[in-house]
Amino acid sequence: STFVFANAEDGKAFFELALGMREKGFEEKIGLIYSRINNPDLEILEDRLTLWDGADACAVFESGMAAISTMFLQLLRPGDLLLHSEPLYGGTDYFIKRVLTQFGIRSLGFKADSGYDEIEAILSKSGLSDRLAMIFVETPANPTNEIVDIRTCAEIAANQASSDRRVVLAVDNTFLGPLWQHPLEHGADLVLYSATKYIGGHSDLIAGVCLGSEELMERVRTLRSFMGTMAGPWTGWLLLRSLETLKLRMTCQMKNARYVADFLADHPKVERIYYLGHLTESDPQHELYRRQCLAPGAMISFDIVGGEAEAFRFLNALQLVKLAVSLGGTESLAEHPATMTHADVDPEDRTHMGISEKMIRLSVGVENPEDLVTDLDQALAAV
Ligand code: PLP
Repeated sequence: STFVFANAEDGKAFFELALGMREKGFEEKIGLIYSRINNPDLEILEDRLTLWDGADACAVFESGMAAISTMFLQLLRPGDLLLHSEPLYGGTDYFIKRVLTQFGIRSLGFKADSGYDEIEAILSKSGLSDRLAMIFVETPANPTNEIVDIRTCAEIAANQASSDRRVVLAVDNTFLGPLWQHPLEHGADLVLYSATKYIGGHSDLIAGVCLGSEELMERVRTLRSFMGTMAGPWTGWLLLRSLETLKLRMTCQMKNARYVADFLADHPKVERIYYLGHLTESDPQHELYRRQCLAPGAMISFDIVGGEAEAFRFLNALQLVKLAVSLGGTESLAEHPATMTHADVDPEDRTHMGISEKMIRLSVGVENPEDLVTDLDQALAAV
């Protein structure tokens, strides 16, 4: 937890920098003080994570929600407006609508596939444009896989900002990053992850990441130190191990997902499939997908013919694919968003977002794809 200073002068100098009491000298670095402020495992991990997203700085947290909530609390103030895409991960949705509101922070949602004019119209109708402080985007959206246009959101953020009010664009890149989508290249200011998912990759840890410019990350890191939401060194060490296979795992999962999606698309008990790799040129999101994403990733949602009863029969019949929430691990997982990850979302909003009782979400792992298809086939036969 703590680090020995070589001498008292060093201790004094490190604290001056950590507390922002003076500017850093030429090539001066904050030395190690105490693990709530900095830690060698986290520092190495953070340096390596900046490479994937081309970011200046990074902070690792004890969960994805710790990263998201610390970032919100640092950058939003009472009276501010937070504009966000919909749907969002259930935990983020809860934090925005039921926690931030208690601090007087207002929020306004727009459908993930909205264009510039639609988002602008929602904003101007609210009469709160002059309080807009942040646009928060989750793309692709969990669990519908709709893509949000990051560049359009960056344009709105730039056009709404004024000389005394910055509008920050933050993107949750958990589903495709850090391999298949790089939000900073498309104009985002901050990128966030649940590192519990692909970055961790083995369903054996909980962690989160926030990346961006040195200036914004300095602020986020300061609140992290005081709220104590940083990851522990053991989590940092496990994540360093995970980075060694990140590309191998995500590439294999992406290929497996295509095999699984092709099977599901042709199945008579599957009503509709939500998978980025099946967007055709006539689809309104096709052009955006080509511009913003490098591959379709490994998340597939589908509507089963029927409703909750049929979805549950399918889930209960799975033998290889595990019935569990979370995603991005080496094992394939299946879940029912309406009653599990998104059970907290207001039922009316859920219907509006297209999360119905017949929807099932799959996170495809690194198993033999033939085995996965055999399992899905027998579970569908049980419906
Ligand atoms: N963002 C997305 C897209 C998620 O799916 C999740 C968790 O499922 C989170 C954020 C929250 O991450 P964590 O569970 O690591 O706190």
